[in-house]
Amino acid sequence: MTSPQFAKVIVDAPLPELDYAVGDGVLPRVGDRVLVPLGPRKVVGIVTGLADTTEVPAGKIKSVLRVFNEVKPLRAEWLKTMAFAADYYLRARGEAALSALPPFFRLPATPAYEKRLEKLRELKTKKIAYEPAPVLNDEQQAAADAVSSSTGYAPFLLFGVTGSGKTEVYLHIIESVLAKDPQAQVMLLVPEINLTPQLEARVRARFAQATVVTMHSSLTPAQRARNWLAVHEGRARILVGTRMAVFASFQKLSLVIVDEEHDPSYKAGEGMRFSARDVALKRAFDNKIACVLGSATPSLETWQQVRIGQYKRLTLSRRAVASAHLPDMQLIDMSKRKPAVFAEEVKEAVTQAIEAGGQVLIFINRRGYAPVISCTACGWVTRCVHCSGFTVFHKTEKRLVCHHCGSRYGVPERCPVCGNAEILPVGTGTQRIEEAIEALWPQARVLRIDRDSVRSKSAAESAFESVHAGSVDIVVGTQMIAKGHDFKRVSLVVVLNADAQLMSPDVRAEERLYATLMQVAGRAGRAERAGRVLIQTRYPNHPVYDDMKAQSYERFAERLLREREEAASPPFCRQALLTAQAKTLDRALGFLRRARSKAEALAGDDVFVYEPVPMPLMRLKDWERGQLLVEAGSRARLHAFLAAWSAAMSVPDSRDAGTDWSIEVDPADI
Ligand SMILES: [Zn+2]
Ligand SMILES: [Zn+2]
Repeated sequence: MTSPQFAKVIVDAPLPELDYAVGDGVLPRVGDRVLVPLGPRKVVGIVTGLADTTEVPAGKIKSVLRVFNEVKPLRAEWLKTMAFAADYYLRARGEAALSALPPFFRLPATPAYEKRLEKLRELKTKKIAYEPAPVLNDEQQAAADAVSSSTGYAPFLLFGVTGSGKTEVYLHIIESVLAKDPQAQVMLLVPEINLTPQLEARVRARFAQATVVTMHSSLTPAQRARNWLAVHEGRARILVGTRMAVFASFQKLSLVIVDEEHDPSYKAGEGMRFSARDVALKRAFDNKIACVLGSATPSLETWQQVRIGQYKRLTLSRRAVASAHLPDMQLIDMSKRKPAVFAEEVKEAVTQAIEAGGQVLIFINRRGYAPVISCTACGWVTRCVHCSGFTVFHKTEKRLVCHHCGSRYGVPERCPVCGNAEILPVGTGTQRIEEAIEALWPQARVLRIDRDSVRSKSAAESAFESVHAGSVDIVVGTQMIAKGHDFKRVSLVVVLNADAQLMSPDVRAEERLYATLMQVAGRAGRAERAGRVLIQTRYPNHPVYDDMKAQSYERFAERLLREREEAASPPFCRQALLTAQAKTLDRALGFLRRARSKAEALAGDDVFVYEPVPMPLMRLKDWERGQLLVEAGSRARLHAFLAAWSAAMSVPDSRDAGTDWSIEVDPADI
């Protein structure tokens, strides 16, 4: 028997599999990384198959230059995941697969490659005091048992109100999975690791012996390579990570957990725009294992799967600390009053809470000082010259900042249009609220938590630490404060501008507002203190507030799903969004109109093609942008259509010069 002569290799480029001769050197295995010539460059590729023959003429075939066989090959399961993701999200398989590897394994080897590789195998583990597992209440125990005793592919929704002890259930399930099989590995996905240091710490404290590693964007390249390798070689038993971790390579993936599965950060905003939750479910399916989706406010997609019996629902209806109570929610109608940052009764409640020794959390969904600076005479407002958005006034730096592209501007002394010297901040952001609080409660110790005040993981940790320690009376912040923190001393939560989100044109705006507010409200009364939540709104009769006061996610979800079903919008249809950007809007829309006529020719009865429109944020970083939405009744139908459509759009057309386009499958924002 002769050994194969050719290797099929995928590379990080929009190309199909390429054939290379394997020559006299070491024969690569399927899943090995190899160094191959690509045009004038040498690049790292992944072997996806071996063959005895090739279509490439003998004179044209190039050879594999090196096989990186110091590391185990990538497993077939991983290659299958990446192929699925590439096909589903309309990427070349090589682009998807290579971009999922840390740079150390994706780029051509440096001279000291072997030596550096050996160093990467030394895992640095911190000694952490072991924390024994607490006893679960009966609901938690039933949930943990249901998952631990499941066999094969088993998707679960762990539906638990905030403070009901979902994390403890995860830890019990992980414990039982690891105990059953010494090779078993677990993937635990979290929305944003900087905001959830408590979860990581709890996992480490519980599994002191098992190796726990993390994967997220704040790691250095060396840390990322080290942790990736530990999971790939099966040395790490537990991987805690953000959405990028869903593409990690495991030896024996045995359990998948997605915490806060509804969180928008699971959807990638650039590059391959995948949903980590959906890929996690697919990996559980391929590995025939359990997948636990945890949330107090599940996505409507997940809730619908529960309704039709695809996912099994496990409910935690009580707060885990027996004496903790669900907070009392109250709406403060701001519609018939003079505009003010705080209503009178809110001021009183804050004063009382502080005097009683509790902490107050003030939530506002906008960082910075004020949204805009405006001219009192002509109405001129500050705008970004590169985007169609306003710039936000940041008082501490005395700068106007565009939150879309990051551009910074000086603050003009007078109106550039009419010369009026009276230009004033309009609206409120976290910085302005902080100032108002300091004026109203000069004795109180105030801490602001947002992306400007807390830029690094350690800054976030120390900020949250000071809240826990009780050295802060009032915390003012954005949704950063809403994530899973156990603030045991918080007795009052104030929500200032919920309405802004309610007025957003995004189809998911209401869903997100509900999730955010329930999360914020969940910060109140987590321990023995009774919690109170005050929501200032100009629209107290909006149905979302009724659902919120009833504290019934079911009621909320059923109402929204009825609306969605009537409108045949997701999850009752499948969508894809084509976006195009060019230097002028005419060019972008011209491209989309041609794309639309190609789509009409391919669509048939069951694919609906909308009209091209400018994007909500039309100009971004000097690009003018338009979009075109398509809908289909099923995934299969949508993908059959998209394959034909993107092929039709890839045919070169001189009118498309200077226009970039991309298709997002299952878009999150429309
Ligand atoms: Zn003016
Ligand atoms: Zn901008």
